[in-house]
Amino acid sequence: MRVPMTVNDFLRRAELLYPDRIGIVDEPDQPAPSWGSLTYREVAERARAMAAGLDALGIGVGERVAIVSHNSSRLITALFGVSGSGRILVPINFRLVAEEIRYIVGHSGARVLLIDPELDAALADVACEHRLVIGDESDGVLLRPGVEPAPWDADENATATINYTSGTTARPKGVQLTHRNLWTNATTFGWHMGVNDRDVYLHTLPQFHCNGWGMLYAVAGMGGTQVVLRKVDGTEILRRVEQHGVTLMCGAPAVVNMVLDAAANWDGPIPGAGTTRIVVAGAPPPTRTIERVETDLGWQFNQIYGLTETSPLLTINRPRAEWDDLSPAERAVKLGRAGGPAIGCEMSVDAEGEVLARSNVVMDGYWDQPDATATAIVDGWFHTGDGGRIDEDNYVIISDRKKDVIISGGENVASIEVEDAIFQHPDVTEVAVIGVPDEKWGELVTALVVVTEGSSLTEDDVIAWTKQRLAGYKCPKRVEFRTELARTATGKLQKFKLREPFWAGHTRQVN
Ligand code: AMP
Repeated sequence: MRVPMTVNDFLRRAELLYPDRIGIVDEPDQPAPSWGSLTYREVAERARAMAAGLDALGIGVGERVAIVSHNSSRLITALFGVSGSGRILVPINFRLVAEEIRYIVGHSGARVLLIDPELDAALADVACEHRLVIGDESDGVLLRPGVEPAPWDADENATATINYTSGTTARPKGVQLTHRNLWTNATTFGWHMGVNDRDVYLHTLPQFHCNGWGMLYAVAGMGGTQVVLRKVDGTEILRRVEQHGVTLMCGAPAVVNMVLDAAANWDGPIPGAGTTRIVVAGAPPPTRTIERVETDLGWQFNQIYGLTETSPLLTINRPRAEWDDLSPAERAVKLGRAGGPAIGCEMSVDAEGEVLARSNVVMDGYWDQPDATATAIVDGWFHTGDGGRIDEDNYVIISDRKKDVIISGGENVASIEVEDAIFQHPDVTEVAVIGVPDEKWGELVTALVVVTEGSSLTEDDVIAWTKQRLAGYKCPKRVEFRTELARTATGKLQKFKLREPFWAGHTRQVN
């Protein structure tokens, strides 16, 4: 028997088995009227009401609905109501400027655009056939409570969401994720993380980013409670963990750092100690950070690796039984790797050192960009653009973004390794290591460093510190101090932006 796997399966199960449980706690502090606490029955009713609203607007199956929103119950509901009725949701990064959003709305051909009230004025010029401000306006037009939506002849290969990824190319590309992609990712991710009906999940990750890595589907399917967080702040995260008994969250290493900083000033026992697990991805977190999650917070550290193009879960690294007797510092080294392949994923590294993946979580393609799709998926393998290797435990180690490898004096230097070393200095709060063109060495390892307030760290100190830890050729030849480093919404360094001024006038980005 073949029964189409769709996102509806997750909410349907929650409504069937946990109808009276609190499914979603909306952010209380937001510009739109908060939806408060909703049971899973109410979430499912609102998702159906939204589908009925789209019927009334005449939005057909396969047509696009774009949403620019901070984390909210309405966005979670749209991930079910829009996709689950056969339309395609296009969640857009709320940090983008009007021009970028206009491009995405136009490129995706969205007929409906939902806009966070806080962004209404800034996005005044972004037009769409149905442009609705989120809150009373969008609820009034989109929600038809009690109206049965038109049935959808479900197709697991239909596109459920288009997630535009930015950061490495001039224009973002629209990643088409199918219901089957999302289903596979959610069930395997949920399984690997042991998600169950006692979990309380905190939305520390932007929901627009690869649909919050799909964790919201997994948690709904098990009947766990989801707590919305609109603005990421370390102290607020600790408060919500305490208030709601949060057991699970996901985030970039930057989020972990915020929580660690907040914990240093927290009065009393750290909320969630011994019960909370955090899943980290987006960049390889420094081992010092991993260790502190265990020693300073008492939380369980987990790492995953993946991309928007892979829904995202490709590899996972959890504390294994074999590591129980290790010291936190030793365990942190083990956990510093991207991880072993998630079930159903095959990982490989090609001759050029690029990490390749094969799995049911790999996207259908880039929306309306067949050439880009053909470059990314070759002979059944998805090319991640990341450089790395597979170690003796069959764990993947990401050593660099492929384009970020610095070749200095003919030797390859993994900038991540240099960053990790520099980051271990107690005065360093942020660091990016890039290659800059150099007559003698080809490329010069250069460190851009942000230090703690009042620090008197000098260029020579940083170089001497690194020399204690790494081979000479890997150490920065040049150090520049900055007040901040360009990052994407999810905390990833935008290295191409940091490199730009150094490479101006060069036709190639390697030297
Ligand atoms: P995105 O599509 O925006 O989620 O970004 C995906 C990229 O983030 C990957 O191609 C990697 O470069 C990076 N990334 C994600 N997880 C990890 C990780 N655990 N370690 C190193 N890099 C990561």
